[in-house]
Amino acid sequence: MKICVLPGDGIGPEIMAEAVRVLNALDLSFELEEALLGGCAVDATGSPYPEATQQLARAADAVLLGAVGGPQYDTLPREQRPERGLLGIRKDLGLFANLRPAILYPELANASTLKPEVVAGLDILIVRELTGDIYFGQPRGIREENGERIGFNTMIYSESEIRRILRVAFEAARKRSRKVCSVDKMNVLECTQLWRDVAIEVSKDYPDVDLSHMLVDNAAMQLVKNPKQFDVMVTGNMFGDILSDEASMLTGSIGMLPSASLDANNKGLYEPSHGSAPDIAGKGMANPLATILSAAMMLRYTFANEAAAIRIETAVKKVLAQGCRTGDIFESGMKKVGTSEMGDAVLAAL
Ligand code: NAD
Repeated sequence: MKICVLPGDGIGPEIMAEAVRVLNALDLSFELEEALLGGCAVDATGSPYPEATQQLARAADAVLLGAVGGPQYDTLPREQRPERGLLGIRKDLGLFANLRPAILYPELANASTLKPEVVAGLDILIVRELTGDIYFGQPRGIREENGERIGFNTMIYSESEIRRILRVAFEAARKRSRKVCSVDKMNVLECTQLWRDVAIEVSKDYPDVDLSHMLVDNAAMQLVKNPKQFDVMVTGNMFGDILSDEASMLTGSIGMLPSASLDANNKGLYEPSHGSAPDIAGKGMANPLATILSAAMMLRYTFANEAAAIRIETAVKKVLAQGCRTGDIFESGMKKVGTSEMGDAVLAAL
């Protein structure tokens, strides 16, 4: 089990240290090797996804990532920005399926800004296509025309790209409540009319799963109004980027949410859903649970070790039940802990 560990920037190294401690405590024989991605890689090599990292990531069975980015990198040329490293590794490894669970732990029901009755028991899985769409479509750029600048991007999806992500969503739904909601904007965008047509075609292979369709603007509203109507939501790269962040906020803390990005053979990149939180970096305050739960997803999806994944998830539930809270999920009456204390508590619970 070869794991490429990419701590990244900001709080990345702090939260990754705790996830690595948890993995090492499992008595499984991992080979962990660290490399640079994002701003730290630009600082060291000039590239956000350097050659050495590419080689290590390609050779590994799974990649565990902290987070990348920071304000000091925002003025770099676009190809050197940390986000390019992230887009680059996803593309390079062919990670086309992003799985983002939004689960509301009962102990944290008050952390949501929505009424508890709207979100209690929430368990949604957002499946986002990761390697196509307007984020990668050509042509793209900013050009001069008639004395002014014009910015342009191309929204593009091939039938085969749509089919493979729909299959991931249908397969995931089979392990859950057998409902898939496909999100598009077919009333305005031809590209997503094709998306809807292909979704209907693929659904014929999954007669046991209910397929529904929703326009993205309505999906954004329904996620806030009545999120429990959803089981699996599947959508393209840009809509998925926005909706998965919205869904994660239903749960109240982005510091709790893991994610997986998979290729066709279940090789995956696992990372928390949040960013590098530069505002609290280096202060020992960050919540490491999203990264620890990402390691659990890695055990489940890449290493098919459900028992070890559940062991970690159960330990996390236990520390929440014990009242341990980092600042982002703190409520009065609970025990406020820092990053490494939270790691200690998970290790003790394991
Ligand atoms: P962010 O997720 O880093 O932070 C948003 C807020 O949530 C901040 O107040 C932060 O302190 C808090 N937060 C995030 N993770 C936390 C944790 N584990 N524990 C406690 N609090 C936490 O988003 P942002 O501020 O918009 O972006 C900061 C940087 O991260 C930017 O450079 C952005 O490009 C980058 N980013 C990276 C990724 C990634 O690596 N996948 C994703 C999103 C943003």
